[in-house]
Amino acid sequence: MIKYSYLYTIFLVLFISCVKDKQAKKEDNRSTKQKPPNVIVVVVDDAGYLDFGFMGSKDLDTPHIDQLAKDGVYFTDAHVSATVCAPSRAGLITGKYQQRFGFEANHTGDKHTGDIGLSDDATTLADVFKENNYNTVAIGKWHLGETKTDQPKQRGFKDFYGFLSGGRSYFPIKNPPATHALQHNGKRVIFDGYLTDVLGDYAVDYVQKNKDNPFFMYLAYNAVHTPMHAKEEDLIKYKDHPRKELAAMTWSLDQNIGKLHNKLKELDLLDNTLIYFISDNGGAHNNSSNNGELKGWKGNKFEGGHRVPFIVSWPAKIEKNQKFTGLTSSLDIFTTSIAAADIKVSEDLSLDGVNLLPYLMNEKSGNPHKKLYWRKLEEAAARHGDYKLIRLKNHGSVLYNLSKDIGEMNNLADSDTLTLNNLSKGLSTWESKLIDPLWKEDKDWMNITYHIHKKLMENKPVLYMSPNGVKNHLNK
Ligand code: CA
Repeated sequence: MIKYSYLYTIFLVLFISCVKDKQAKKEDNRSTKQKPPNVIVVVVDDAGYLDFGFMGSKDLDTPHIDQLAKDGVYFTDAHVSATVCAPSRAGLITGKYQQRFGFEANHTGDKHTGDIGLSDDATTLADVFKENNYNTVAIGKWHLGETKTDQPKQRGFKDFYGFLSGGRSYFPIKNPPATHALQHNGKRVIFDGYLTDVLGDYAVDYVQKNKDNPFFMYLAYNAVHTPMHAKEEDLIKYKDHPRKELAAMTWSLDQNIGKLHNKLKELDLLDNTLIYFISDNGGAHNNSSNNGELKGWKGNKFEGGHRVPFIVSWPAKIEKNQKFTGLTSSLDIFTTSIAAADIKVSEDLSLDGVNLLPYLMNEKSGNPHKKLYWRKLEEAAARHGDYKLIRLKNHGSVLYNLSKDIGEMNNLADSDTLTLNNLSKGLSTWESKLIDPLWKEDKDWMNITYHIHKKLMENKPVLYMSPNGVKNHLNK
């Protein structure tokens, strides 16, 4: 009897400890599961569609960015909401078509209006993360407003290390204007060296300091926007390259993405960090970008203007080595990020993006968007499925079937009026929800972009000023 009760006690102790162990494991799993991810949005500037290894580049070296693509998903039909810097960033950071709050033209105001910037009632992704106990940081180029109320610290970022303007020298500037100075929360930073490295170092340092708290990092490199400044050692590395400045600038950008990747790995944060990599618009002609088979470039409504390299990586949740071909928008970054962090926002925000996670986790297939729209002043475009319409004010519209004609050379406007009318109608309906642009662009610049659109719509050569003089230019 004694022996029986002794054995029974041992069995009971073992059973309880086993249940406790299971419970602890369950709780452990749950805490891992519930730990909010860090979110990093890497924005690069004016980069070409074909200028990264993962997109098929054969002449630029981007091993670390390629690794990021291998860690997750790269996209072949991803688009930004504008073909120039400022409005594209306004769409990305608010998750809304920026024309809904009047941020339609480039820059943040004009000589008549003064600086206007991001509408005061627009909510940024940083606002949402900050409210939900994330540490938030903006690093690099801002270009969303220069007045106090539009600076990063007032738009949800607890920390800002960068510059307010749309571009600047990659090297130290003597007596820079306040908008061009590198600053840390309003205080000028005097730096030595090369800006891409300086921004990259700050990002690494920030991760180290914030490793114990979830953070949202908006890391906006001005590379590879003009001026075409590169480090001497990188220029030597590419001395025989036909695009040596761009190759050197891209190499430096890649090295800095590598530094960040290594730091996340070293701190065991990589697995639970959701990383995006995107260019703010298509490759520009003035930095010698290569948009591959796409027609057009930065500033126009052909695919070369808004179809961009895009990566999403989140090793803990998203399977690696994926290619995604569905129609996707930069507006999806907002929606996807809050879904990843399990944050609910008010429906009043009326976001235009889609949560991409079900698509990337193979729970859903197809196109996240059936339709996308673009407009900047006199130029507009619509995408419905495979079809793309481009409309130029007082000139007319062209229609392409991208599934057969990615280079947008075969205008179907006369032969397929039914589809043309459908897309025109869709565009008008979308436009009825917009407000008038709060500022415009310089008249001369508007004339140039109008001229470029007209010529490209007619498949005619475009005459434009390049940094090296005047060139004839068709498509590329
Ligand atoms: Ca840009």
